[in-house]
Amino acid sequence: MKIVILSQNPNLYSTKRLIEAGEKKGHTMQVIDHSKCDLIIEKKKPGLIYQGKEITDVDGVIPRIGASITFYGTAVVRQFEMMKVFSAVESQALVRSRDKLRSLQILSRAGLGLPKTVFSNYSKNVGAIIEKAGGAPVVIKLLEGTQGLGVVLADNQNSAESILEAFNGLQARVIVQEFIKEAMGADIRVFVVDGVVVGAMKRQGKEGEFRSNLHRGGSADIIQLSDEEENAALKAAKAMGLGVAGVDLLQSARGPLILEVNSSPGLEGIEAATGKDIAGRIIKYIERNAD
Ligand code: ADP
Ligand code: GLU
Repeated sequence: MKIVILSQNPNLYSTKRLIEAGEKKGHTMQVIDHSKCDLIIEKKKPGLIYQGKEITDVDGVIPRIGASITFYGTAVVRQFEMMKVFSAVESQALVRSRDKLRSLQILSRAGLGLPKTVFSNYSKNVGAIIEKAGGAPVVIKLLEGTQGLGVVLADNQNSAESILEAFNGLQARVIVQEFIKEAMGADIRVFVVDGVVVGAMKRQGKEGEFRSNLHRGGSADIIQLSDEEENAALKAAKAMGLGVAGVDLLQSARGPLILEVNSSPGLEGIEAATGKDIAGRIIKYIERNAD
């Protein structure tokens, strides 16, 4: 099969591993930088040009689209879909996953546990918003943030109010969230492929840090999920419509709470922590669906 990886950098761990896993199965792997594709849209003849050549006869595509290029990257994935190419991540699901608020709304409708979250249109009554999220301490998150940037813990009412006022003043959209203290600076990343949990790790923030992101200096270890955690992760990936998903959850006194569902989850941390061939599982997913 001919499998395309949409990635802006062929040297990233995740990209390299997907190439390796695909070639091992005898597939032809091609990395295409989605930011440099031109799309041709005409009646019944969708086309895609890359490096001056028309790309044809692709069987499957694996999108690895960075958050900053979601709009164009999604257009490229959609073009492949128009060309009847199977995508490991559907363009619709990709767009959905990039909107934190919309994602939380979808997860809430699916009946998943979530940290209580409040969103308002820059309400001046910041005190009431914080109260609605359960009162301080609260976590205030920029809607556009990734990798833990723009995620702030406000530990008392006064600081929560001033942080919220500051973001409002900058017209930066934020959500205010109940702080899950029992998580103790850790979260769980569950990697789901094709409706199956293929790996899970517990990430712990460095000393004095409530954010467990590996980019913020956190560390990761393999973890055995409870049935409840496994079911929550599978249900979250399904609700988001993602065939490949990195589901982040917090362990709380009332069970697993979904934080977010990542549509281009990194392979490095999870393969290192679990020792599993997760890239191979993604290739298998393509094989099962592309013809
Ligand atoms: P990002 O998408 O930028 O990674 P997250 O919402 O995942 O932002 O938050 C980053 C980290 O902060 C999480 O991995 C988790 O460790 C911690 N965190 C986020 N929200 C909460 C919360 N409501 N309660 C406790 N810890 C949280
Ligand atoms: N992009 C990485 C992932 O999805 C983020 C890891 C992190 O910041 O913790 O696994």
